[in-house]
Amino acid sequence: MNKQFVLASSNAGKLREFSEMLAKQGIDLLPQSAFSVSDADETGLTFVENAILKARHASQATGLPALADDSGLEVDALNGAPGIYSARYSGEGANDAKNIDKLLDALKEVPEAQRTGRYQCVLVYMRHSLDPTPLICQASWEGVVLTERRGEGGFGYDPIFYIPELNSAVAELSAETKHQYGHRGKAMRAFFEQLPHYLPA
Ligand code: IMP
Repeated sequence: MNKQFVLASSNAGKLREFSEMLAKQGIDLLPQSAFSVSDADETGLTFVENAILKARHASQATGLPALADDSGLEVDALNGAPGIYSARYSGEGANDAKNIDKLLDALKEVPEAQRTGRYQCVLVYMRHSLDPTPLICQASWEGVVLTERRGEGGFGYDPIFYIPELNSAVAELSAETKHQYGHRGKAMRAFFEQLPHYLPA
């Protein structure tokens, strides 16, 4: 029987991307929802802490090795906000549209040269819930916050996050290009390079 890992997320897109890469190593990835595991409280103050909290919670509840990620957008002019609060930036009932509106408003007096920031992604793998040395991979993607939306693709802040190197908003890129250049793709490639060293024989 294949080895099984639990993914500390119920996001279908993340599950698909991770499953495809793990299947090549003979590992089945199951979402935590398959075990009725609730979402962990993200009480950490860094992406790394929150990813560890999520992985530990999923591993503890299922007895399986666990994979988790945490990501967000850091804006320099806002001292790194929305950062770890990216998904819930606009408060109660937050969604992508409201989060973008809030960010555009927070930056309305900020000139282009000072609208720099980056997407961050942290991936964590824990062999068991007490694993003292989890595998941690982090990657980022530099860009500039636009003053209005561009493009239809992606999710989250993609319509207002512009990549100078590609002369495009992230929402104007194909999924393949985003995976090739983006924070999550970079973190995933680093992660899958390291993972074999962390697997039981
Ligand atoms: P989480 O990692 O699922 O907790 O999501 C963090 C939040 O960061 C998302 O809800 C988005 O608001 C933002 N975010 C993370 N990665 C991306 C991305 O690739 N594009 C746009 N927004 C992102």
